[in-house]
Amino acid sequence: AKSQFLANMSHEIRTPMTGIIGMTDVVLETGVTEEQKDYLGVVKTSALALLAIVNDILDFSKIEAKRLDLERVEFSLSEVINEVLASLAPQAAGKELELAAKVFNSIPDRLIGDPGRLRQILLNLLGNAIKFTKQGSASLTVEGEAISLTHVNLRFAVRDTGIGISQEKQHLIFDAFSQADNSNTRLYGGTGLGLAISSQLVSLMGGRLSVESEGLGKGSVFRFNAIFEVRQASCPYDRKTGFIEGQQFELVPEGLGHS
Ligand code: ADP
Repeated sequence: AKSQFLANMSHEIRTPMTGIIGMTDVVLETGVTEEQKDYLGVVKTSALALLAIVNDILDFSKIEAKRLDLERVEFSLSEVINEVLASLAPQAAGKELELAAKVFNSIPDRLIGDPGRLRQILLNLLGNAIKFTKQGSASLTVEGEAISLTHVNLRFAVRDTGIGISQEKQHLIFDAFSQADNSNTRLYGGTGLGLAISSQLVSLMGGRLSVESEGLGKGSVFRFNAIFEVRQASCPYDRKTGFIEGQQFELVPEGLGHS
């Protein structure tokens, strides 16, 4: 009953939210004054923030009810990463932070798995990296190796040069609703659900999410691994030796004004 209720609520809550966001966009295009444009901008930002919270709560409830199933579709890893970088670029640029990703090119690009959920994990980790960093950078690296003829284990690391996390708090932040410093809530906002959801999604992908930080002010590194099937036709690795050695390439979103 709980799962059914959640499935219904998910639809019932999202539909009116889509109406509010969509109609705000429509009104914004009808020649409103600058002042009205500002007000409508607040309506839209608030609606998007509310939708993000609702989505988090629904995801978390679905995971708890063991109702969250991963998709199995073919996707391009570099496309997912580029989309994530493109959607976070304005936030990073607004704080003059460097934002970059490095994917070792020995990694096959065409994978089979759940691109939407992988995007969600990366958005959460890189979004946090930007949110909790005042100056410096937020970056993603992806390495990995073949674990069988058909599957790869990819290792993702998200690094930032931000506020860091004290040793005592490092194990707490993966729990639902918990934040490293509750007094931060007002400064940084957020529900404390992002990492709990990401960590569950990572385990559904056969991996584990962990954090390292030398302490407050020293930045953080969030690492996770995940197992994906490789689309055979595009598989670039050598059957005997594993991956063919290659140079790494760098993905930097277009229009990001600094290196
Ligand atoms: P939210 O960011 O919505 O509070 P999360 O579950 O994503 O929820 O993160 C939980 C807490 O972990 C954050 O409130 C913050 O205290 C801490 N945290 C997460 N990522 C970082 C980071 N990159 N640097 C410092 N602290 C972080």
